[in-house]
Amino acid sequence: MMNTYKKGGNTAIIKKSNLSLIVRLVREMGMVSRTDLAKITGLSKGGLTPIIQELINNGIIRETGVMDSDAGRKPIMLEICSHAAYVIAVDLNRSSAQIALVDFSNKVRSSYEYKYAGNESTQEIIRRIKSMIRFFIEENHECSIAAIGVSSPGPLDCQEGIILNPPRFHGWKNIPIKQLLEEEFGIPTILDKDANAYAMAEKIMGLGKKYKNFIHVTHSEGIGAGVVIDRMLYRGVRGFGTELGHLVVDYRGSKCDCGNIGCLEQYASMTAIIEWIESRIQHEVDEADAPIKMIYERRGRIEWEDVLDGLDKNSPICLKAVENAAVFLGYGLINMLNIFAPEAVIIGGRGISAGKYLVKPLKKMMAESTFYKDFYLPDILVSDLKDGALIGIANTAFEHIIDKSTEQLFKPKM
Ligand SMILES: [Zn+2]
Repeated sequence: MMNTYKKGGNTAIIKKSNLSLIVRLVREMGMVSRTDLAKITGLSKGGLTPIIQELINNGIIRETGVMDSDAGRKPIMLEICSHAAYVIAVDLNRSSAQIALVDFSNKVRSSYEYKYAGNESTQEIIRRIKSMIRFFIEENHECSIAAIGVSSPGPLDCQEGIILNPPRFHGWKNIPIKQLLEEEFGIPTILDKDANAYAMAEKIMGLGKKYKNFIHVTHSEGIGAGVVIDRMLYRGVRGFGTELGHLVVDYRGSKCDCGNIGCLEQYASMTAIIEWIESRIQHEVDEADAPIKMIYERRGRIEWEDVLDGLDKNSPICLKAVENAAVFLGYGLINMLNIFAPEAVIIGGRGISAGKYLVKPLKKMMAESTFYKDFYLPDILVSDLKDGALIGIANTAFEHIIDKSTEQLFKPKM
C-alpha cells in the first residue's frame, strides 16, 4: 500500500514539476525548439512530447514559425501564448499607485495611475486601489486573471504579504495587503519590494538579460537595490535583504525614518536632494539660482522637475546638491561592489533623469575606488526599461503561479 501511494505521489509531483519547468523555459527563452528543450532539461523525446502536447492543448504554449538549423532541417519552434493568463500588477510608490494588466509574455496591456491627493487616509488609498483592481477585472472579463502582484517600498514581509512600516509611506504600518486583496477578489496575491521588481524586470526583459550576476539600483524618492545572483533574486530572510538605502554612510549623521543614523537615503535620494536645496535656497545669492528661489518662495516647496530645470540652467545650488548626492551614492555602491562583485550595476528610477550630473560621477568613483579595480570592473549601465516595477512584479506573480499551482493556468479552459 505504502509503496503504491509513494509511487503515485512522486509521478504526480514529477509531472507537475516538468510542466512548470517547460512553461518557465519557454517564457524565458521567447522561442525555443523541442530539441533545445530536450537538451536543456535532459528529458527524453518520449518524456517531453506529452508535456508539450498538454500545454498546447491548454493554450499555454503554441507552435510557431520555423528556424534554419545547421543540419538543414527546419524545426517548428514553440512560444508562449501571451493570452494564456494575465496578472493585475500594482506598483505602490510614495506619490502614486500604478495599476496595469500584464499578459503572460510580460507585456503591459493597459495601465492607470492614481496620484495621491496627499491627505487621504490609509483606508481611503486601499479603497481606491481595490476599486481600480475591480475596474480592471470587469473591463477585461474575457481575460483569465491568474494573480495579483503588488510591489511596494520595504520593509515588507514578503512571505505573509504584509507591508510593515516603509519610511515616509503615508504612515502605513502592518497592512496585510495580500489578505485584504485575496479576501476581496479571491485571486492569489503576491507582494514584493519595488527594488526587487525592478531587478526582476531587468533580468527578464532589460539590460540584465545577459548577466548572471548583477545589481539593479533604484534611485528615486528612496534608494533601493535588487541583487541577482546566478540569475536568481537574492532576498534574504523574509525578503528583508539588500536595503541599499539603509546602508550607514555616516554613523554620526542625521536620523533616518527607519530609526537608524546616517542611512544613505538621507543623503542621496531625490528627497534628500530636494531637502538639501530647500534648507539652503533662501541664503543663495547667485543669479542662476534666482528661478528656483522664486519657485520656493511662491510655492513653499521644490519638486524634482524644478531641480532638473535648475540643472539645465546651471543653477549652482542644484549642481552642488546633485554632486553631493552622487558622492554618497557612489560610496554606497562601492560597498555593494566590494561585497557582491557583480558583472554589472544597472541604475534606474526617476532620479536618473538627472543624467550626466548623477551617473557620470558615480561611474568615476566606482572605477577609482572599488577594492578589485586593478583587476576587474563591472559594467555600469543606465536602465532604459519602461514600467519596470509593473513588469517585474507581474513576472514574480506568474512564476509563483507556475511553481505552486500550474492548474491555476489550466483552470479557466478546462
Ligand atoms: Zn534608514
